[in-house]
Amino acid sequence: MSAGGKGDAVARVKGDREPVICGVCRRRANTGFGWAGKQGRPVLWLCDSPECGRAARSVYEMPTIELDRYEQRARDAAGERAGAFLDAIGKTDLATLTPEEWATFLQQVVVGFEDELRRMLLARTAPF
Ligand SMILES: [Zn+2]
Repeated sequence: MSAGGKGDAVARVKGDREPVICGVCRRRANTGFGWAGKQGRPVLWLCDSPECGRAARSVYEMPTIELDRYEQRARDAAGERAGAFLDAIGKTDLATLTPEEWATFLQQVVVGFEDELRRMLLARTAPF
């Protein structure tokens, strides 16, 4: 994969020498635990989510192009969550959101992505 290509982020996540970000959901890797399958292989570091721990092996062994597809589906699902929030408060113009509404909207996107990615990976929902 060329520098800056879509697969580079996944390869970097798997190969970090020290815990930086979770290789499953992209949150901060704060546990010091990771998955490598066997000694000497690059480590896929993990956050404190038990779901990420359960999905680690399948993510580690998943081809980059397949993981990219899961991430795209999780992104879309997170966007739907954020859209549902906007529908619930009756606003469509982001410029009119209060600071609290903006924070909630962003949380729907970020946390929604993490939740959906974990859910899809654990269910091995074929998104394509
Ligand atoms: Zn995680």
